[in-house]
Amino acid sequence: MMNYKRSSALFVEAQKVIPGGVNSPVRAFKAVGGDPIFVKEAKGAYLYDEDGNRLIDYINSWGPMILGHAYQPVVDAVVAKAQKGTSFGMPTEIETKIAELAVKMVPGIDKIRFVNSGTEACMSAVRLARGFTGRDKIIKFAGCYHGHSDSFLIQAGSGAVTFGSPNSPGVTQGTAKDTLLAEYNNLEHVKEIFENNKNEIATLIIEPVAGNMGCIPPVPGFLEGLRELCTEHGALLIFDEVMTGFRLAAGGAQELTGVRADIVTFGKVIGGGLPVGAFAAREEIMNYLAPVGPVYQAGTLSGNPLAMAAGLAMLEALDADKEIFTRLSEKTEYLHRGIKEALDAHHITHTINRLGSMISVHFAAEPVVDFKSASNGANDTFKKFFHGLLDEGIYIAPSAYETWFITDALTYQDLDDTITAVAKVAPQLI
Ligand code: PLP
Repeated sequence: MMNYKRSSALFVEAQKVIPGGVNSPVRAFKAVGGDPIFVKEAKGAYLYDEDGNRLIDYINSWGPMILGHAYQPVVDAVVAKAQKGTSFGMPTEIETKIAELAVKMVPGIDKIRFVNSGTEACMSAVRLARGFTGRDKIIKFAGCYHGHSDSFLIQAGSGAVTFGSPNSPGVTQGTAKDTLLAEYNNLEHVKEIFENNKNEIATLIIEPVAGNMGCIPPVPGFLEGLRELCTEHGALLIFDEVMTGFRLAAGGAQELTGVRADIVTFGKVIGGGLPVGAFAAREEIMNYLAPVGPVYQAGTLSGNPLAMAAGLAMLEALDADKEIFTRLSEKTEYLHRGIKEALDAHHITHTINRLGSMISVHFAAEPVVDFKSASNGANDTFKKFFHGLLDEGIYIAPSAYETWFITDALTYQDLDDTITAVAKVAPQLI
C-alpha cells in the first residue's frame, strides 16, 4: 500500500484557489474516487510523486511523451532556446524547420500552421473548412473529443462524459444546432446525415482511431467510406490526429490506414511536451487563411521558440528512428497478451482494444466499437482495477474512457511488472 499523504495535503491547498484543485478536469479522480497524485518529477517511464513513490506511467501527459519523460534531446533543445529569449511575436527560422519536417513526414499536406493546443487546432480547422466551403454544419461522432471549443462539446467522450456533462452549459443552442452527431463505425448513419443535409455540411471531423472512449479502431471500410461520402457531398474531411499524429506512424493514421483527409490536426507529440497544436492541409486550403486568405486565425504565442524547439527535437528523433513505431506496437501487443492472460486466469469479463501504441481495457463482454458499447463497461470493476494498480505502482488514466499510451522508455521489465500487478489485482475484481 503506497502512502499519498503529501499529495492529499497539496490537493486540499489546491482546491482553495483552483476549481477542483486541477487545471484540467480529467486530472481529478472524479470517476474513480480518491485524491489526485501530485507529481514532483519524471524521467523515462517513471513518475516520482510528492510522497516519494515511483509510478510506471501509462498516461504520459495524455500522449505527448512518446519517448518517455525528460527525453534528453528535447530538454537540451528547450534549455538552449530559453537562454536566447522566450517569445518574440516575430518570425523565427525554427518555425520553418519544424514545418518542413512535418510536411515531409505527413502525407498529403503542403502547409501547416502552429497553434498552442489541440483544441485550437481543431477549432481553427473547422473554421477554415467552413470558410473554404461556405457552409455551416459539421458532423462529429459521439464519443470523439476534439478539445473544449463550443461546437465540439456535444457527446464528447472522456472528460466530458466522466463529468456527466456531454452538452456543457455555456454552449449555446445556436452553436449546438450546427453540430450533427453520428455513430462511430456506422457508415449508414453518416450517409443518412449527408442525405438529410444536402449542400449544408462543411466538414466531417473524426478521430481516425478514436482514443477518447478508450481506444476504438475504425472497422474496415469505415474511413474509406467517409472519404467517399465527403468527396461526393463536397465536404472537407478532417482527421483529428491530435492523439494519433506522430504516434501510430510517422505520418499518423493517414499513413497507417492509407486514407487521406483534407485537413489534419495535431497536438500532443508534435510539441514534445510543450503546448503546441497544429493544423495542415494542401496549399489550396491553407491559403484560405489570413494573411493570404479571408479566414482569420492568430496567436500571440503561436510558434513560440521553446515550444518549436521541443517539437522539432521530438520530430527529428522520430524521423531518425525507422523502427520506433514497430517497437512501440510490439511492446503494446506484449502488454495486451499479458493482461489478457492475467484477467482470463480469474475469468474476469473484459475486452482489450489496441492499435499501435494505444490500448485500453474495458470491463465489457461485447466488442467495444462505438460510444454506446464503450459505455457498457462495468465502471465499479474499473475503479477497483485502477486503485489496485495504483497500489502496485502502476499509473493508468483515472477513467475507463481513456487510452493508455505506450512509450519507448518502457522496458520489457516494466511491462512484466505491470502484468504481474494485473495478476495480483485480478482476484479483487471478481
Ligand atoms: N483532439 C483529440 C483527439 C484529443 O485527444 C485532444 C485532447 O485530449 C484534443 C483534441 C484537445 O487537445 P488539447 O487538450 O491540447 O486542447
